Amino acid sequence: MAGTISRRHVLGGLGALGVGALFGGRLGAAELPGKRPNIVFIMSDDHAAHAISCYGSRINKTPNIDRIAREGVRLDNCLCTNAICGPSRACILTGKYSHMNGFLDNNDTFDGSQQTFPKMLQNAGYKTAMVGKWHLVSDPTGFDYWNILPGQGEYVDPMMIENGKKVKRTGYVTDLITDTAIEFIQKRDEDAPFCLMCHHKAPHRNWIPDARHADMYEKDDIPEPDTFKDDYANRSKAAAEAEMRVNRDLTPTDLKQEPPPGLEGDALAHWKYERYIKDYLRVVASVDDNVGRLLDFLDKEGLAENTLVVYTSDQGFFLGDHGWFDKRFMYDESLCMPFVARFPGVIAPGTVNRDMALNVDFAPTFLDLAGVKAPGDMQGRSFLPVLRGETPPDWRAAMYYQYYEFPQPHHVYPHYGVCTDEYKLIHYYLPGKMDEWELIDREKDPKELRSLCDDPAYADIVKRLKEQITAFRKELRVPEELA
Ligand code: CA
Repeated sequence: MAGTISRRHVLGGLGALGVGALFGGRLGAAELPGKRPNIVFIMSDDHAAHAISCYGSRINKTPNIDRIAREGVRLDNCLCTNAICGPSRACILTGKYSHMNGFLDNNDTFDGSQQTFPKMLQNAGYKTAMVGKWHLVSDPTGFDYWNILPGQGEYVDPMMIENGKKVKRTGYVTDLITDTAIEFIQKRDEDAPFCLMCHHKAPHRNWIPDARHADMYEKDDIPEPDTFKDDYANRSKAAAEAEMRVNRDLTPTDLKQEPPPGLEGDALAHWKYERYIKDYLRVVASVDDNVGRLLDFLDKEGLAENTLVVYTSDQGFFLGDHGWFDKRFMYDESLCMPFVARFPGVIAPGTVNRDMALNVDFAPTFLDLAGVKAPGDMQGRSFLPVLRGETPPDWRAAMYYQYYEFPQPHHVYPHYGVCTDEYKLIHYYLPGKMDEWELIDREKDPKELRSLCDDPAYADIVKRLKEQITAFRKELRVPEELA
């Protein structure tokens, strides 16, 4: 498989004499010159890469998120191991898959007594903060300061919980979270490095824009994605049975207006799509503005040079793709996470990388950057060398995925599978109700519209991928009953 070969492209001026040459091979972060770096980890909720202009969005512009990529790296193959909010956050905190950290779906409660990267950074002398959307039910642990939204939180005048105390706030949630993040940095202990998690609620459903962006796109016609009219034929019945269709499953609360009388069929579906996507993009525009505000603040404070800034989202999202909103499936729009990062002197400006990174890699990566050894039970691997442009020769060429939440709220069957550069093999399962496989040829069918599982020409590939799944499940210690 080609994935073991690094396919990085350094677009910046450093070329072959990139940061690797500057910092000398596999030099550990602890040996980086100067003070230990700060970490500003910005994460939004449900922001798909195809609604970010540096990822080639056809429908919006995100100049501030693009700035991070321009001054640093854009990962084009960052994948989520369980594409849903709470579970992805638990994977990120622990560096472990859902079945190991115990947070399989959004009905779970995070066991805050377990090992997480913020705790390890705190033990290593970092000041740690968690601001914004937490969504793990139990109170945050491992933070010197936390100020979170309860549950999903509100877009306007939200309640927030500051170190255990409820405080009603006035304003728009994305602005307030950024204000609070900036205040944490302003009040920081200047003798210690910090790790700040600035986690936005936006652009999570039900997409309520602020006044500044309320009329944005009003006169525009936003094009539907190519697969908007997917008929779900030639695949598992899982796709057809999912309840997240733009033309059927958006509620009056989502749409916020009654459809004009007389609209039906494709015209009504398009009207609903426009209602949905415009509010989604307005909410994204506010996230982007606030990313810019935080970047400007870091510049003003003189912190830009010694701070890793990351922008990502807890998973991707369907923006009308396959006719859907929401996420969950192992299809690309949901599986792929945007990930851009800037760290001057370590990440060469304008780097674009296609090596496979996972959400379970974030914890070991942040620890590596801080010079803290990642514990052996973390299942991810530091991709700091990848960010530096020095992908290890034995870097992964495949990943394992598993999703659990069923039947509510969107009737997406549990599934697991393997993803390589060339293929996805997905098994939808539910004892007595569902036992179907899909094989996607990613090169020939990038829109993921046709399963080739029953095509004799692919029999050997299916066999090999099934063996790979078995090996992954053993290595990752997935309990047998989760199948
Ligand atoms: Ca989410």
